[in-house]
Parts: sequence; structure tokens; C-alpha cells
Amino acid sequence: MVRRMARTVMLLGALLLAASCATTPREARRPPDRAMTMTVTAYCPCGKCCGWRRNWLFRPVIRSGPRRGKPKAVGVTASGTKARPGTIAADTRLLPFGTVLHVPGYGYGRVEDTGGDIQGHRLDVFFKRHSTAEAWGVQRLPVRVWYAPR
Ligand SMILES: [Zn+2]
Repeated sequence: MVRRMARTVMLLGALLLAASCATTPREARRPPDRAMTMTVTAYCPCGKCCGWRRNWLFRPVIRSGPRRGKPKAVGVTASGTKARPGTIAADTRLLPFGTVLHVPGYGYGRVEDTGGDIQGHRLDVFFKRHSTAEAWGVQRLPVRVWYAPR
């Protein structure tokens, strides 16, 4: 019985190890280029998080600003990729597109998006569900940074 449990634990451990290896980006195999404390919020593709609403044709349009009323591609990031878990919005003057980040409690992600409020030492991490994004709240966290090779 004990032996069987030990085997189960080992199997689970191996599975966990495999899962974490699969999600660790190639860049993160070397030591991080830097670590910085950042204020991290979360978002999802919804209109509330991404500043869009539906027009009278029920099509998503940008809610405010100079491009107000223009069509909004929901779920597409500022860099043109599809938003998915691991997508992070940052200030690209500080952390350019392609930068790999490790955010405690979120895991590894890549800078692929931007946001109006995301300036300086601010990050927005992507979740599929609004409730998960909301539950994240606002957290000050030590973030590890790997710049993309040029
Ligand atoms: Zn949302």
C-alpha cells in the first residue's frame, strides 16, 4: 500500500515536472537579465477590461479615445497575436514585445500587449475569465525579466 502510494506520488511529481517544463520558455533557461518590483493587475478579453462595447449591429467597437466607434478585434493583442494565458501587457518602452517575464502566482508569460494605464512599472496579465482577472486584484510583485534576443 505504502509502496503503491509512493509510486503514485512519483508519477504525479513526474507529471508536474513535465507540465512545468512544457510551459517554461526557452529564454528562461538562462538566468534572468533583471528583476524588478512591479504593480500587476489582470484582464480578460471582455469589453470592461479591454475598452469596447457593442454597437447597434451588436458588433464590438472601441468605447473611447480618438478611435472611438471604430471596429475592435476582440482577443487580438497590440502586437497582433491571439490573447491567451501567458499574454502580458506592459509599457513597451521599458519591456519591448517578446520580453519573457515570470510573475509570481501567474507563471511565465510574454509581453505581447499594451494598455492605456500600463505605463512604467505596471503589468496586466491575461486570464480567459473575467472573474479570475478580477480575483487577481492589484499586486506588487518581484518580476523576473528575460529580454528577447535581437
Ligand atoms: Zn474582463
